Amino acid sequence: MAAVSFKHVRKVFGETVSIPSLDLDIRDGEFVCLLGPSGCGKTTTLRMLAGLEQPTSGAIHIGGTEVQELPPAKRDIAMVFQSYALYPHLTVAQNIVYPLKKRGVPKQEWPAMLNNIAQLLQLEPLLERKPKQLSGGQQQRVALGRALIRKPKVFLLDEPLSNLDAKLRAHMRAELIELHQRMGTTTVYVTHDQLEAMTMSTRIAVMNGGVLQQFGTPDEIYYRPANQFVAGFIGTPAMSLIDGDLQRDDTGFSLHAGGVTVRLPHAALRADASGEVCVGIRPEDIVLGRGTLSARIKVVEPTGHESIVLMDCGGASLCTRIASDVPLAAELRAGQSVPFEITLARLHIFSRQSGQRMNRDDTNVTSIKRTRDAA
Ligand code: ATP
Repeated sequence: MAAVSFKHVRKVFGETVSIPSLDLDIRDGEFVCLLGPSGCGKTTTLRMLAGLEQPTSGAIHIGGTEVQELPPAKRDIAMVFQSYALYPHLTVAQNIVYPLKKRGVPKQEWPAMLNNIAQLLQLEPLLERKPKQLSGGQQQRVALGRALIRKPKVFLLDEPLSNLDAKLRAHMRAELIELHQRMGTTTVYVTHDQLEAMTMSTRIAVMNGGVLQQFGTPDEIYYRPANQFVAGFIGTPAMSLIDGDLQRDDTGFSLHAGGVTVRLPHAALRADASGEVCVGIRPEDIVLGRGTLSARIKVVEPTGHESIVLMDCGGASLCTRIASDVPLAAELRAGQSVPFEITLARLHIFSRQSGQRMNRDDTNVTSIKRTRDAA
């Protein structure tokens, strides 16, 4: 196991600045997801850590050793890609022990190591099969086994579940969490799927345009997004983001947005907060059927246990959710006006100029306790 750090790491491909300057410190034993939209630099970051790309400048450390000049084989990392690339002519057992052969581990040590991994990944009944006789999830487990057998310091995964169907993905997510809890290997995992990142990570590094936007626990990212990008990117359905105007006076702040004015205490926002802002409201922080505010329903989308409701409030689009067992849920129709209230303590306020968060998070928002401990 080992900590990983990127210090002022820059990567330029020809004319394209892929990563302008990345600083990221991953603790020993963490499970960190690099999350962001296509082209944000996740894979480039992972490949630099693996030694498959050379940083243009800056330093990368694994376990305190500077590695950016070292070839992949000298970094003590193991990598699993989206395509598992198993050897089709070898059995599961032969595939798994392959790295031991390559690294010159004495043959008499192989069976114990193989048994250990096969047990961990529940592959014992499959050891004599060839890859084409396995399901996608089983193949994925073999690929994980092959990567894990020599106990790397750092485990790197690049969208390893994206070829699997939704049910199997959910299953493998749980398996990966369990595996990490048992092995405790520092893991860096690339994904554009926020559900994967939210469920598996000890911390998430949200990237956009090659720039790290926020590095925090899933709850920090969800409840205290550092800027407007993170606010809009994390959460399904997405947070409603509406333009507003903020004025500070002697007794607090007046916030005008969507034709509505609300008062917020001084303690809620930074002292310098004022002017043009963007107001973020999570769907669950809009409560339908009570309160003094009113919106017109545009669309009701039943999803089973709840409905997603899109509404218009003074020209601003709002999205909320309502549980199906609430009697009001069955009555909601497009075109209707519906009263609602907002949990003001959960409003997210961003500067429209800089995009940065203006809440004072010591007083605002749910206390953040839930987090998956690093192993
Ligand atoms: P995706 O989720 O689509 O895989 P990503 O977040 O992993 O995207 P990267 O593959 O790291 O993004 O790419 C980041 C940026 O660097 C993109 O603009 C991409 O076009 C550019 N890039 C990556 N590899 C190369 C390359 N070999 N040559 C030129 N540009 C590259």
